[in-house]
Amino acid sequence: REDTQFSLVLEEALSIIGSSLVNHNVEVIKEIKSQLIISTYSRELLQVYINLIKNAKEALLENEIKDAKIFITIREDEQDIITEICDNAGGVEPELLEKIFEPYFTTKDERNGTGLGLYMSQTIVEKHLGGTLSVKNTKEGACFSVRVPKIAKEE
Ligand code: ADP
Ligand code: MG
Repeated sequence: REDTQFSLVLEEALSIIGSSLVNHNVEVIKEIKSQLIISTYSRELLQVYINLIKNAKEALLENEIKDAKIFITIREDEQDIITEICDNAGGVEPELLEKIFEPYFTTKDERNGTGLGLYMSQTIVEKHLGGTLSVKNTKEGACFSVRVPKIAKEE
């Protein structure tokens, strides 16, 4: 079975890229407020989490942020389970906010970016998980929000 908690998928993503965050002094601050279970496509969700955390890390390093932080929250409302992955790297240029989900759009050089991460992540969230992936800028940086409708509740 693929049943696992969203929070455990997040832990797996962090165990895969965590050492590269530690090596670059990027602090991860987590707030887990939901123990809901994802019943299908957890491998795909793992890929989404990895892409978003990797992007946050890359933005933090690119902008040489001294006090680099990634804030991750998992919470739920009535309809959805919401994962927010935010950083303090300064955010996305406002005029690029709609472009970043397009396939092959990247501001990185070709060794570092294919421009497919957000496109694939959005496709996974919409097509497989029936949810949405969106971005907004906060005062400190970019904030990506993965919203997935609740399917299976913990028993
Ligand atoms: P890639 O990482 O290969 O460039 P993505 O699809 O993952 O492709 O991201 C597309 C673009 O979106 C990035 O090149 C970058 O300009 C922007 N972006 C993504 N995440 C962030 C972030 N956390 N902060 C600022 N810009 C971001
Ligand atoms: Mg990327």
